[in-house]
Amino acid sequence: MSLSVCHRIRPQLAKEKIEGCHICTFVTPGEPQVVLGKDKAFTYDYVFDMDSTQDTIYANCTEKLIEGCFEGYNATIFAYGQTGSGKTYTMGTGFDVTIPDEELGIIPRAVSHLYKGIEQRRQAAADQGRPVPEFKISAQFLELYNEEVLDLFDTTRDIEMRKQKSHIKIHEDASGSIYTVGVTTRTVSSEAEMMQCLKLGALSRTTASTQMNVQSSRSHAIFTIHICQVRVCQDNETDNRLANSSSEVEEFETLTAKFHFVDLAGSERLKRTGATGDRAKEGISINCGLLALGNVISALGDRSKRSSHVPYRDSKLTRLLQDSLGGNSQTVMIACTSPSDQDFMETLNTLKYANRAR
Ligand code: ADP
Ligand code: MG
Repeated sequence: MSLSVCHRIRPQLAKEKIEGCHICTFVTPGEPQVVLGKDKAFTYDYVFDMDSTQDTIYANCTEKLIEGCFEGYNATIFAYGQTGSGKTYTMGTGFDVTIPDEELGIIPRAVSHLYKGIEQRRQAAADQGRPVPEFKISAQFLELYNEEVLDLFDTTRDIEMRKQKSHIKIHEDASGSIYTVGVTTRTVSSEAEMMQCLKLGALSRTTASTQMNVQSSRSHAIFTIHICQVRVCQDNETDNRLANSSSEVEEFETLTAKFHFVDLAGSERLKRTGATGDRAKEGISINCGLLALGNVISALGDRSKRSSHVPYRDSKLTRLLQDSLGGNSQTVMIACTSPSDQDFMETLNTLKYANRAR
């Protein structure tokens, strides 16, 4: 299993500058360490300061996960942090046509990398006169709200109708793979088509939250890409080449992998938002997903606990991600924070949460 923890500090927003907020996060030069305030030091796998670019985040945190998917390893990347800390910006979930290329987030970059990788693999095989690998790519886009699963690819306009007819179930098969029933799966054959799907889903998320009169920052958005590849067995291929007997019958292997991109609900405390009634219920339930995720991540990081009990079943979120956290999968957590002193306590909470994963 590989788990890496990154901390990204977004730049100060105009509003924070106008209000005269001070910067309270200090990155130690040349080290993946951040000091919050005077003396609260945290070390992670990577720390990205305010001036880090989307490209740097992608190259360090995501590129190798896509490469792993080509070899059949599942991947999960999730952004954690209070509302306004840069989760959606970092993930690229809130698809926005107007943003310049250099500001594209993780998802569009991963999609582009995926389709380039497919093209390269097909081309390389063709050039060498080998059978060209076949790829089938599909996507799902879910929103988890109040332990309720909403299908963002479901185009039913009325949210109540959508909730009624949705009977989404999460199951585990005999081999331990997690699969869903009742979720729209879109087969996607190009980068442009995938971006179109992402855009539709993001739009649907906004419409849903408006109709339910809730903020989308209170839900988790999970964009999943399924990659199915049929290629000539790699071992067999080497044997063939060694024996120089290309006339031998080729054996094929099917590799499947999925990549979850998770834009988590805001981690802020209820107290601060002054939630009451339904909002409070929402908050508790959302925190249940974040809490369960924290527990799972910390159990996975702890060698003594790993073999015994990992509490995946404590929330829909961790249940959905079960076969893509731990095991042979690759997981990246990006803890997003504000640099400003007005967010000191929330930043401290985020840094502590991220610390549990190590
Ligand atoms: P969240 O999803 O955590 O609520 P957002 O991603 O919506 O936060 O970010 C809040 C605001 O900060 C947005 O206006 C976003 O464009 C801006 N922002 C976040 N991260 C960055 C960054 N690294 N560089 C520039 N602007 C950013
Ligand atoms: Mg957001």
